[in-house]
Amino acid sequence: MYREFVEEAKKGRIVGYRCECGKHTIREICPFCGSRDLEKEIEPEEGRVITCTKIFVAPKEFSSEAPYTVALVELSNGMRLMVRVEREVEIGKEVRFSGVKESALGLSLLFEAKGR
Ligand SMILES: [Zn+2]
Repeated sequence: MYREFVEEAKKGRIVGYRCECGKHTIREICPFCGSRDLEKEIEPEEGRVITCTKIFVAPKEFSSEAPYTVALVELSNGMRLMVRVEREVEIGKEVRFSGVKESALGLSLLFEAKGR
């Protein structure tokens, strides 16, 4: 799953699953109810910022990446994702999927503020 997620993200799509309980997740097992009865779907590319944290001091192996900003984003269907943002965003700000960033941290989804 992770490999497919990465390949699709590079093409500009967020692939996830919809569970029979109605929640959305990027995992093959629902983290909310434990079900494995999930259906693959393309996730919406827009959402809003729930929390946002600037990382000044990264773990040693990632120190060349600092400072960087990570945000918890809630997509328009309610799915929550940890993403990376290039510039500061405020809580509640509307954001849009803008690409991926590959770094020492691995692959991160990149989001940017809407309406610029
Ligand atoms: Zn579920």
